[in-house]
Amino acid sequence: MNKIALARCGSYERNEVEKAVHQCLAELGGLGRWIAPGQKVLVKPNILAAEPPEKGVDTHPEVVRAVLKALLESGARPIVGDSPGVGSLARAAEKAGIAAACRELGVPLAAFNEEVEVRTAPDGKILKSFPLAREVTEVDVVINLPRVKTHGLTRLTGAVKNLFGCVVGLHKGEMHFRLQRADVFQEMLIDLALTVKPALTLVDGVMAMEGAGPRNGDLRFMGLILAGENPFAVDAAIARLVGLEPTEVPVLALAAKRGITGIKESEMELLGEKLEDLLIPDFNVPAAKNMINLRVPDWVVRLFRRFVSPYPVIREHCRRCLVCMQACPAKVISVAHGQMVIDDQHCIRCYCCQEFCPHDAIELKVPFGGRLI
Ligand code: SF4
Ligand code: SF4
Repeated sequence: MNKIALARCGSYERNEVEKAVHQCLAELGGLGRWIAPGQKVLVKPNILAAEPPEKGVDTHPEVVRAVLKALLESGARPIVGDSPGVGSLARAAEKAGIAAACRELGVPLAAFNEEVEVRTAPDGKILKSFPLAREVTEVDVVINLPRVKTHGLTRLTGAVKNLFGCVVGLHKGEMHFRLQRADVFQEMLIDLALTVKPALTLVDGVMAMEGAGPRNGDLRFMGLILAGENPFAVDAAIARLVGLEPTEVPVLALAAKRGITGIKESEMELLGEKLEDLLIPDFNVPAAKNMINLRVPDWVVRLFRRFVSPYPVIREHCRRCLVCMQACPAKVISVAHGQMVIDDQHCIRCYCCQEFCPHDAIELKVPFGGRLI
């Protein structure tokens, strides 16, 4: 049975976060279940971009701090690492308040610069190996620390999607380019989660992000920390909390098809707070755009992607900072006559531009054909 612990957390006030983190860990049997004194532990928060904690883009520093403190108290040797899609980890972690938490506790921060090619787990399906950050391969245990947010490509980003940050820098863009079908890309995310195999996932669900996440959405109070061993079960719990059937989240639908357990309600044991008391049924999740791709064969996707999949549109208040141009794996964004222009014909609908735009200047529009389907 997949145990998921839920603890209320009404704010990012230090004592409250520490209490909720401890509560989750205690419900699951304590850190000693996964970590022995002296072991090296990689803590992998979501450090997407250089944004202050109040914007809710990155895992909140108080959640990172509380987990690091618990690890140090248990005698572990933690490090914190990630590979933001755009810009340096040092800058992003500094702005997010995570670098300060690390300094205070004497925990090193590891920018994932060096890669090691790691064979995909035997039950993998899409890629034979992954260019993972060296740190991921050198530690004894990985602890996954995502935040509850929406995402244009995957609908929700939580435990499984957060592990994409274990792939070193530019390779993430390459993967978007190689695996252009949304369902294939998400099968790859499943392979990755099975390969990285975090021992534990603790989720920052105090202030979640809804709407145009993962960077430009609206903050929504959720008031909880949740935790579990199985990242698929953790994401299934998040889906249920925001009023979705887990299989309405493409990555979970695909994982369920593969026979991965923890996704059905009957395969999950909830501990602590009751999930029903924490539900947000009107949480604004992007439409099931990518389910479109799951329902039609490959040739249809290739032929008609332009007519059914949401397409990015640059809004008037674009500040021409060029971040989207750098983030676009297909290199289809350019500047013409002082304006940012997207070559729609060659756009692969990966939505990296929308994910990384620092000014909420990219909107995803669903074409008529997509709305019909
Ligand atoms: S769309 Fe966003 S990322 Fe692209 S140039 Fe404009 S403001 Fe910058
Ligand atoms: S324009 Fe945006 S959605 Fe299209 S390929 Fe580039 S990053 Fe992906």
